[in-house]
Amino acid sequence: SPHFTVIPLALKNPNFELRTNSIVLKINLDSTRKKAVSVSYLDARGREFEQPADLIILSAYALGNVNLLLQSGIGVPYDPATGKGVVGRNYAYQCGGGATAFFDKKTILNRFMGAGALGTCMDDFNGDNYDFVKAGYIGGGGISCSNSGARPIQSHPTPHGTPRWGSDWKKAVVDNYDHAANVGNQGAVMAYRQNYLSLDPTYTDIFGRPLMRMTFDFQDNEIKQMNGQADICVKIAKEMGAIRVDRSIPPVPYSIVPYQSTHNTGGAVFGADPTTSVLNKHLQVWDVPNVFVTGACVFPQNAGKNPTGPVGALAYWAADAIKNYLKNPGPLVPS
Ligand SMILES: Cc1cc2nc3c(=O)[nH]c(=O)nc-3n(C[C@H](O)[C@H](O)[C@H](O)COP(=O)(O)OP(=O)(O)OC[C@H]3O[C@@H](n4cnc5c(N)ncnc54)[C@H](O)[C@@H]3O)c2cc1C
Repeated sequence: SPHFTVIPLALKNPNFELRTNSIVLKINLDSTRKKAVSVSYLDARGREFEQPADLIILSAYALGNVNLLLQSGIGVPYDPATGKGVVGRNYAYQCGGGATAFFDKKTILNRFMGAGALGTCMDDFNGDNYDFVKAGYIGGGGISCSNSGARPIQSHPTPHGTPRWGSDWKKAVVDNYDHAANVGNQGAVMAYRQNYLSLDPTYTDIFGRPLMRMTFDFQDNEIKQMNGQADICVKIAKEMGAIRVDRSIPPVPYSIVPYQSTHNTGGAVFGADPTTSVLNKHLQVWDVPNVFVTGACVFPQNAGKNPTGPVGALAYWAADAIKNYLKNPGPLVPS
């Protein structure tokens, strides 16, 4: 985590100051709208400040970055009716689902032992590693059996059909605790004209700003993919010797209520053409060159893989470009 790696190093620099418990509300532009001059932020006591800046790096998570770009009027907001505009375009997510394998009571899995991302993953059915022509979908996903450390309150797998409360549910929890494992899919999601982020015309946040609105649904490719990959997970679970295998896919149409993934991507993508991307290849805003953006909002689609490695790599990539920018401030790619 940057909290233990990058920030302590940065704090050693005399010209570095960390202002915690602050929330940036907006990036302010000059009258040309092509140069950022400051950010407006609130401190923990709710006092508003304007911090002048020569260079601004937006790194407020994929969704937060898009929100701040929209709130600040940086880049043209995407319009799904015309297909024009860029900010909010290409919002993508990930496909889940898979199989739960239930074993006999002699099979003890010690699922309470684990770590954040501990597991075994295979990419045989991910990306271009597999010919999906017969399956009828593209993208695929990583298939994994993970053990993040089964928390007693959160993790209590029960077979499909078990009542959701009451003594039968309790019995099923006791019978299956530590005898069940998940074989799951983490699938790609393509970019679609109809999936996007925008400012809500009705609802506002506590500061009176429009809330950011997410318009998203799984499309045919993703529905086929979730089903196809779940079938593969079922086969694997059976091979593992399970006495019962339950298959599952996420709710279709998409519902934000059950936890599925927090791998949100897109909305401020990088690319070669300013009419279809917010950022050039150096993660520099085409329209306002003294603003750079890091985070998974820069991904044009979402792969069947965890995002944070590429997010970190692209941050280093942008940092290198910023070193050049500082020698000669201006657009690093002509538009
Ligand atoms: C529950 C969960 C599990 C995850 N598991 C995995 C995983 O296993 N593997 C994986 O690759 N990825 C995982 N992710 C995704 C991963 O956390 C993100 O990809 C990664 O943190 C993105 O890095 P970032 O720097 O863009 O944003 P963040 O790490 O979210 O950092 C953004 C920072 O900006 C601050 N901020 C936001 N808005 C403002 C504002 N307006 N003003 C001031 N500060 C602001 C936030 O407080 C935060 O400190 C998971 C995410 C969640 C939530």
